[in-house]
Amino acid sequence: MNFKYDVIVIGGGHAGCEAATAAANLGSKTCLITMDMNKVGQMSCNPAIGGIAKGQIVREIDALGGQMGLITDRTAIQFRILNRSKGPAMWSPRAQCDRAKFIEAWREVLENTPNLHIWQDTVQELLVENGEVVGLITIWGVTFRAKCVILTAGTFLNGLMHVGKTQVDGGRMAEPASYRLTESIAKHGVSYGRMKTGTPVRIDARSVHFDLMETQDGEADFHKFSFLNGSARHLKQLQCWTCYTTPETHRILREGLIDSPLYNGQIQSIGPRYCPSVETKIVTFPDKEQHQLFLEPEGETTQELYLNGFSSSLPLDIQLNALKQIPAFKDVVIYRPGYAIEYDYFDPTQLTHTLESKIIKNLFFAGQVNGTTGYEEAGGQGLIAGINAHINCHGGSPFTLARDEAYIGVLIDDLVTKGVDEPYRMFTSRAEYRILLRMDDADIRLTERGYQLGLVTAERHQLLQSKQEAVDKVVSFAKNYSIKPALINDQLEALGTTPLRQGCKLMDLLSRPQISIENIAPYISAFKQEIEKATALEPERKEEIIEAAEILIKYQGYIERERLIAAKLSRLESIKIKGKFDYATLQSLSTEARQKLIKIDPETIAQASRIPGVSPSDINVLLVLCGR
Ligand SMILES: Cc1cc2nc3c(=O)[nH]c(=O)nc-3n(C[C@H](O)[C@H](O)[C@H](O)COP(=O)(O)OP(=O)(O)OC[C@H]3O[C@@H](n4cnc5c(N)ncnc54)[C@H](O)[C@@H]3O)c2cc1C
Repeated sequence: MNFKYDVIVIGGGHAGCEAATAAANLGSKTCLITMDMNKVGQMSCNPAIGGIAKGQIVREIDALGGQMGLITDRTAIQFRILNRSKGPAMWSPRAQCDRAKFIEAWREVLENTPNLHIWQDTVQELLVENGEVVGLITIWGVTFRAKCVILTAGTFLNGLMHVGKTQVDGGRMAEPASYRLTESIAKHGVSYGRMKTGTPVRIDARSVHFDLMETQDGEADFHKFSFLNGSARHLKQLQCWTCYTTPETHRILREGLIDSPLYNGQIQSIGPRYCPSVETKIVTFPDKEQHQLFLEPEGETTQELYLNGFSSSLPLDIQLNALKQIPAFKDVVIYRPGYAIEYDYFDPTQLTHTLESKIIKNLFFAGQVNGTTGYEEAGGQGLIAGINAHINCHGGSPFTLARDEAYIGVLIDDLVTKGVDEPYRMFTSRAEYRILLRMDDADIRLTERGYQLGLVTAERHQLLQSKQEAVDKVVSFAKNYSIKPALINDQLEALGTTPLRQGCKLMDLLSRPQISIENIAPYISAFKQEIEKATALEPERKEEIIEAAEILIKYQGYIERERLIAAKLSRLESIKIKGKFDYATLQSLSTEARQKLIKIDPETIAQASRIPGVSPSDINVLLVLCGR
């Protein structure tokens, strides 16, 4: 058999599903080849989407017309905004999801996407002719031809799992690894390495003493992931629980280190710094007497619970014994042990900003195979790879996102410019313009770009325009309306803030930390009426509009300052240098800069300046040469 497609996506994980739906929705004849159709969008580790900076990525995927936000809203069993005690640039949505329903929802989306065919199989060889990918062959001997191929094989490439001394081949528990594919790509000169990650035990809820734990409730307000109408609370909303490890837990874990594959030399690859195993926590923080654990439901109806914070690859008896030293788990029964997994990844500096390989034309890489960790990071890359694979097939300018435009832009620029030496996860601190990259404005930042591409519908585009007009009206009223002391001073005193001596603009009053639109609008009837008028067309979005307007009012100074800095630096982004220099001959550059510039071959001066090892004086040399 011989099948022909525009785009073939290898792997139906978070990157692959976004890539396949994006390419197909844009009109490419697309095939998603994945090992197991019943595991599409499987959450290999914790059953939760979002979190700090990751939540912003999901909102960006949504604004560009991707699926992760919609599917998360459909399957959320607990929703919260994290980091509320900090400024809005740090607020991040997070949802606990029903793992099985998440997969079901993805499968429904995939099966109903026009132009998208699914093939259940394992790819084992890429077909490359004259430096260009032309197709692939599966383990069943089926040959597929394609104009573009997107590799999103996650943790499956030569995957090896560890529990104590026991090692089992596999891409994820109970799933086979993928062999020969890494080698079939590497033989064309693509370099690859090895990384590691891990996951905790899963617990039977019937064995837990919940009365010995603190509960953690979700929030019931208007927030959700997708901009599209509808609620994020379709399913029954559930609690999570927290508890702490004990000194006795630590003693058992410490004594077990000798049998730990992480500490006895069995695992050599580097794991995610910010999701350490519990044994790593004990070693890194020897003086800490307890570590917090979160017990999270895996679904609406299942008894299975996920123990966040207790990832481990220690032998099963040690994991279990250590766990039983925590009062709530003294009678614990588990469904399966925690385990670690090692897998291959490809050096992402071999990619352009579209995620296309610089070495094999029309071959794209997205997700864990690029050295990242996390569903959201994978989804964001999948979307960009899917869009650009479509563009390679049908024409158009490459689609990339800038660092001041999206966390996805920061992520991809970091990957292709700096590379990775440990699993890369997104943080707000990685973004230099984080006040511009908020969760509340992802739709305003990116919907237009998704619309121009053809991924965002006209209806959604129109909905966003109405929202933006409403926000602008509220902000503009606050800027122009003067408020008299007599009208508001009683209320200001009641809110614990200094009364006015003379009139001021409403905007100035709203910039005080004690004042919000919610607590002051009821006392200023003109403002109240303006809000009603502005939100009349979209009453169901009233709270969303008020929140967006309030953030713009309160943080206007910071936002403008970041925009100015971004605009200044964007001048460097516009100085194109790709192909302009033979770096090997530029003796005025440092040796390290010469080597790095040859390897990365940056598009612009700005990208060159972000390459580790390229100093400001190297950049000056390039600028002087550009001037010449
Ligand atoms: C044990 C474990 C623990 C983890 N812990 C964490 C954590 O603590 N924090 C965190 O952020 N992330 C963690 N992750 C990583 C997280 O699961 C990934 O970041 C995320 O799933 C990556 O998405 P992806 O789409 O790149 O790959 P995956 O979700 O892994 O999907 C890959 C898909 O490709 C398919 N596939 C693979 N090879 C082939 C082939 N040759 N042919 C056809 N199909 C193929 C697979 O069947 C699968 O559907 C963990 C993963 C595992 C396995």
